[in-house]
Formats: sequence, structure tokens, C-alpha cells
Amino acid sequence: MFQHKTIDGAALNLPLGKIVCVGRNYAEHAKELGNEVPKSPLLFMKPASAAIALERPFSIPADMGAVHHEVEIALLIGKPASGIVAADAWPCVAAVGVALDLTLRDVQDTLKAKGQPWEMAKAFDGACPLSNWLPLEKIQDKDNIHIRLEKNGELKQDGNSQQMITSIPNLMAYISQFFSLQPGDVILTGTPAGVGPLQSGDTLKATLDTHQTFSTRVL
Ligand code: ZN
Repeated sequence: MFQHKTIDGAALNLPLGKIVCVGRNYAEHAKELGNEVPKSPLLFMKPASAAIALERPFSIPADMGAVHHEVEIALLIGKPASGIVAADAWPCVAAVGVALDLTLRDVQDTLKAKGQPWEMAKAFDGACPLSNWLPLEKIQDKDNIHIRLEKNGELKQDGNSQQMITSIPNLMAYISQFFSLQPGDVILTGTPAGVGPLQSGDTLKATLDTHQTFSTRVL
């Protein structure tokens, strides 16, 4: 069972429920995969069983084609949110962190071509490494959150929440029209451009909000 933790490693008394994700929330990323920018947010979910601690080295599925990294700003829900308006969104967020939305890209391409749901490519065990959580008040400017990913010392992804097609408050309002958000739930806010395949032995370093770094490794 996944356990939410603070940035200091203390256990948080919030159960992980669901992980709600958004696809194609950065125009440059939609373009790099040859997708159109959606008119409204493209939502999908990962179950709690997909979550693992980012700080621990993790393994990736073998023999299922390419496994891509998608680094994303993650939000930990602290208060229930159902049918909210954007202005009420931030007070429902307890903390901010980093997630890797691991994606079986070849499997996803096959599913997309058949018009089928993405779960098999996105919701498998271990598909969502999640970092420890930085309290919202520690974020310098919540309307301007930076996210980066280095792989083997090389900068691969570099984005900012201002580049999002749907902003975090608008995204939360939209999500909460369909799914009630409960304390402990997580939102993944989309990936900037630069996604790519992972290999055994890769080292990864994610940086949140310019100063907070999280390192991990592919077994
Ligand atoms: Zn993603």
C-alpha cells in the first residue's frame, strides 16, 4: 500500500484513493506525439495500486515495448472538492509534488489506433512513482510552478505551469464536475514536451519549483 509522506519523510494521515490525470495539457507535448490540442481537458485515471515511492529505485515492465517518462506537477488533495469553481480550487490542495506518469507508449499507440481506453498503458502496477509532498505554502508562486527532469545528467523535460493549456484551478474545477475529489487523492497535471523511453540503469532527477530535487533510478 502506498503511503503519502511529507518532504521530511513523515507519514501523512491521508489515504491514497485515486489518481486523476490529464493528457495533452502542454501544447508542445501534444505536438511532439502528433496529437491535436483537445478542446476540453482529456482525463484518465490511475488506481492507487499504480503508485510507488519515487525515492526508491523502480523496475519497468519488460517485453511490453517502450516505457516513457512523463514528469508532471502532482497535487495532493487535502479537502473534499465536488462541483467546485476555479476560485475554490487551491484551498483544497494540501501539497505539491512530482509524479512520473509512466506510459507504455507502444501499447498506448495500439489502443489509440483502435479507439480503446488507455488504462493498460497507464494504470499498470508501478505506473505512478510519486514524490514526497511539499506543503503548498512552501511553493514560491503557485501560479508559476517549474518542473524539470534530467535523465542520466541530461535535461530532458523543462516546463512551467504557466504553459498549461488548462490552468491548475480550472483543471480542478473541471475534474470535480465529474469526479468528487477526496482527501488523499492525487491529480497529475500533464507533462511538458521531451518525453522519451526509459532503460534499465537510467538515473533520473526531477526538480520542482526550481529548488526541490528528487532522484531515483530504473532497476
Ligand atoms: Zn501524463
